[in-house]
Amino acid sequence: MNLHEYQGKEILASFGVRIQRGIVAHNANEAVAAAKKLTEETGTGWHVIKAQVHAGGRGKGGGVKLAKNLKEVEEIAGQIIGMNLITPQTSAEGKYVSKVLIAEDVYYPGDSETSEFYMSVLLNRGTGRNMIMYSTEGGMDIEQVAEETPHLIFNEEIDPATGLLPFQARKIAFNLGLTGTAFKEMTKFVASLYKAYVESDSSMFEINPVLKTSDDKIMAVDAKVSIDDNALFRRKEYAAMRDLSEENPVEVEAGEVGLNYVDLDGNVGCMVNGAGLAMATMDLIKMAGGEPANFLDVGGTADAKRVEEAFRIILKDEAVKAILVNIFGGIVRCDRVANGIVEAYKNMGDAIKVPIIVRLQGTNAELAKEIIDNSGLAVHSAVQFQEAADKVKDVLAA
Ligand code: GDP
Ligand code: MN
Repeated sequence: MNLHEYQGKEILASFGVRIQRGIVAHNANEAVAAAKKLTEETGTGWHVIKAQVHAGGRGKGGGVKLAKNLKEVEEIAGQIIGMNLITPQTSAEGKYVSKVLIAEDVYYPGDSETSEFYMSVLLNRGTGRNMIMYSTEGGMDIEQVAEETPHLIFNEEIDPATGLLPFQARKIAFNLGLTGTAFKEMTKFVASLYKAYVESDSSMFEINPVLKTSDDKIMAVDAKVSIDDNALFRRKEYAAMRDLSEENPVEVEAGEVGLNYVDLDGNVGCMVNGAGLAMATMDLIKMAGGEPANFLDVGGTADAKRVEEAFRIILKDEAVKAILVNIFGGIVRCDRVANGIVEAYKNMGDAIKVPIIVRLQGTNAELAKEIIDNSGLAVHSAVQFQEAADKVKDVLAA
């Protein structure tokens, strides 16, 4: 589950990580009030206005702007709230901005003593260990650094038995070229950041930039935080931070009925049991000249109710020209799945306007094919993978 910058920063602060302070605002008036309050607390009269959307690269899209007085706070907040922010990480339509973070300006004017670093904490699936990735080349172009000068990005792996050791935090501070107070601050920053990552059950932290101020403070200016979905049951306070308006509404609906659904751009909907088979089915669709419209794993119980829910979800996508059902009947027998499909189809009446190709393999596959063929419905059945592919091809060509 992805969080907004302001929520990520709240979590960091609760673990003692120094952050650039800020207050959320939903309109220009709230923005001005927030800026006044921050000035009282921090003494700075300058503020950055930052769009709160689930996408990076906001700076490049005009979603992060500096305001030098309250009038500018009002103007800029008014501009950013309500805009469709387009960044290198959003779709072409962009993302609607409903709130901004008013943050203290931590880059003092004309200051050459500040440095922007990159730091993230994530799981290295190859080694099964958490690691801290970091670089002196922080700021807005880390993707370019990774592509063109990957040697400027360092990794520090953490042994789960010992946790982060003090020498590792010192090594990171050293590699970032720090000395004196900034060095000490960085070791503290790294230690509390890692603690926050582990204890919040996060799957990713990305802090870009980590700022060294001219008075040698180290702080998180940005925060991209993902909490592991599987841990949300025991992290209720973070689960409550979920912002459904940032997510694909059909995916949210599918999640509510327990379907694993990911919306894609193609024209052939798929309904499959098991993630591996779902991936293979998507390849099959591509080989047949189609493009998958979604990834959908119905899971272990492909009964009539579930099949119907899955059909309804898939059909919300108007680009869908055909649906391929590819189910392996192991524990759940194919004939039961076939009956479920027939029943779901009948229940839905006219709602199904596209051809459906059903491929059932496993226990009682032949019987299942008979059930489909004898149903009198506009459903094409197949047993072999290739047969199913050919039928998809025929249907797309028709
Ligand atoms: P992103 O573009 O979505 O990654 O958003 P960031 O939060 O990283 O902000 C983008 C850029 O805005 C940063 O890389 C900074 O260079 C700049 N920025 C952020 N906070 C401040 C600030 O307090 N003062 C100034 N002058 N610039 C800032
Ligand atoms: Mn950033």
